Amino acid sequence: MSLFSAVELAPRDPILGLNEAFNADTRPTKVNLGVGVYTNEEGKIPLLRAVREAEQARVEAALPRGYLPIEGIAAYDAAVQKLLLGDNSPLIAAGRVVTAQALGGTGALKIGADFLKRLNPAAKVAISDPSWENHRALFESAGFEVVAYPYYDAQSHGVNFEGMLAALGSYDAGTIVVLHACCHNPTGVDLSDAQWKQIVEVVKARNLVPFLDIAYQGFGDGIDADAAAVRLFAAAELNVFVSSSFSKSFSLYGERVGALSIITESKDEAARVLSQLKRVIRTNYSNPPTHGGAIVATVLGTPALRAMWEQELGEMRDRIRAMRNGLVERLKAAGVPRDFSFVNAQRGMFSYSGLSAAQVDRLREEFGIYAVSTGRICVAALNMRNIDAVANAVAQVLK
Ligand code: PMP
Repeated sequence: MSLFSAVELAPRDPILGLNEAFNADTRPTKVNLGVGVYTNEEGKIPLLRAVREAEQARVEAALPRGYLPIEGIAAYDAAVQKLLLGDNSPLIAAGRVVTAQALGGTGALKIGADFLKRLNPAAKVAISDPSWENHRALFESAGFEVVAYPYYDAQSHGVNFEGMLAALGSYDAGTIVVLHACCHNPTGVDLSDAQWKQIVEVVKARNLVPFLDIAYQGFGDGIDADAAAVRLFAAAELNVFVSSSFSKSFSLYGERVGALSIITESKDEAARVLSQLKRVIRTNYSNPPTHGGAIVATVLGTPALRAMWEQELGEMRDRIRAMRNGLVERLKAAGVPRDFSFVNAQRGMFSYSGLSAAQVDRLREEFGIYAVSTGRICVAALNMRNIDAVANAVAQVLK
């Protein structure tokens, strides 16, 4: 008998499953609004010019391929801290921030989760309802019980802020609260600065542990504006966990570039925390890969490349916004009675469109337009070639 004879087939990842169906679809007009990647006007994942230049210089330098330190490239970790907290952060100057390069945002969440499990094994983890679908699975697989706090309000296409505050206000001390720092995935609906301030207060008053996930810095309102929530938490003198991802902002999805940062109370505490975090990393994958981290560190640390990257990031942000506007306008022009202007107020790559699962099914079956059954669409996959077809199809299924 095989060791595996009783192994059951695991359910397919819903979004990757959607991709497989999309790839098998032979209609030339098909559009994939399911997966969370930014594609440009040509419908391609861009290779940023700043990235290409940094890569070329790296190839020419023909460097040896030794191991990185467990916590990754020092210049990379330092650059991540500045992106999160600003160039003149007193916390950075005081040596109170610990950062470790990680395997994407996912890897950062995972080492953070494993470290937290060692610190406080009985803690619960609270995620938003809804949240990025891997949050629950990731924290559960690290051994935590995961609960959800109210977040999205379908009626108003906004945040159920009262519900969120009440839930956070009811949690036990030590509860880990996972918060989307900007560009909430899947809804596109973010908190206002005033609401963030209230969240910081309740987190502090109840002694909760904030874990900010920032996977879209620069896709909302800009690099600094999108880090506002991280900086509010930092200023509140809390122990903050932050997972960063550069998959989207550098268009480096497959290179797995992310980081975990932890704000501590003192330099001495930072040294102790880093030493323990390194044990978590060492027993998982030993040390991170070089290429993506080196590229990001070079771009962020070279003024000309940094300026180029900021411009390219701004272009991606502006294009997404133009696609939001374009979709709203076209739906209106197609005579759709429903007011879709909330799509313009959403931030980042995604929109909770308000379409039902049945309408999403019709989009796929009749028009070859693929979206997630929750009605989440990736606005960053729209372009001038497919936006008319998408708007017309949406208008049809809303009839
Ligand atoms: N957090 C959120 C909210 C995300 O949307 C994503 C990616 N879709 C991640 C984390 C993971 O990022 P990465 O691909 O860098 O692991």
